[in-house]
Amino acid sequence: MLELVDLSHSYGSYRAIDKVNLTVAQGEVVCVVGPSGCGKSTLLRSIAGLIKPTGGRVLLDGRPVRSTPDNLAVVFQDYSRSLYPWLSALANVSLPLRRKGLDRRAREDAAMAALTEVGLAAAAGKYPWEMSGGMQQRVSIARALAYRPSLLLMDEPFGSVDAQTREELEDLVLRVCAHHGMTILLITHDVDESVYVGDRVVVLSKAPGHVVGDLPVDLPGPRDQIRTRELDAFVRLRAEVGRMVRGRHNNHELETM
Ligand code: ADP
Repeated sequence: MLELVDLSHSYGSYRAIDKVNLTVAQGEVVCVVGPSGCGKSTLLRSIAGLIKPTGGRVLLDGRPVRSTPDNLAVVFQDYSRSLYPWLSALANVSLPLRRKGLDRRAREDAAMAALTEVGLAAAAGKYPWEMSGGMQQRVSIARALAYRPSLLLMDEPFGSVDAQTREELEDLVLRVCAHHGMTILLITHDVDESVYVGDRVVVLSKAPGHVVGDLPVDLPGPRDQIRTRELDAFVRLRAEVGRMVRGRHNNHELETM
């Protein structure tokens, strides 16, 4: 459903990503992992039509992306800037549904259903400043889910919450997206997270980012924070991805990890 062909972007003379080629199939959860500054956000903003890439193409359902597509939702790391502080959780979630042409009642019903899915039904009337960081990020996730996008883009979505909330949100996203058969492209710098969440892990090199690895994650589902992370296959894959992220492709470091 998503195809990136030789996607490149430069800020002036600085090349941030270089000829990224990637395809994502319907229903897949693909994690893109790479070192800080390798161009992960640039890649995501190009896919979302928020910047115009200086080279290559982005195709969504076979059509070139020129502006933000209708069937796409994005969850950013910085929940404090992505929610409107003067709107309740319910109003924040229902607002984008106007774009779908739904009447007020239908918008509020869909928003309430999404808030219920993320465990926030009781907080529907609260304002962002009355909620913890984890709750605010749940609202952002509910807003994306309510919209029922065919592609959900997530940019370090769990990067600003504490470790326990992070695990809860990883599981929440996996559960809800599997339920709706949603396609996800999730950007992270966290190697463990990429292996835990992904059906596939795509590794970007350091800047200018290009694809240096594309690994299937062959782990049993549903994933479990304790059991999955102690599987030999998880540990091996994490080490392999970790080496790729650091730009080391030889095997002798496996023993030292
Ligand atoms: P990542 O998300 O992997 O940390 P980014 O895509 O944010 O990487 O940035 C890649 C590189 O491009 C970085 O060196 C960053 O400083 C640079 N960059 C990002 N946005 C801009 C911009 N608007 N103008 C100039 N340089 C930018």
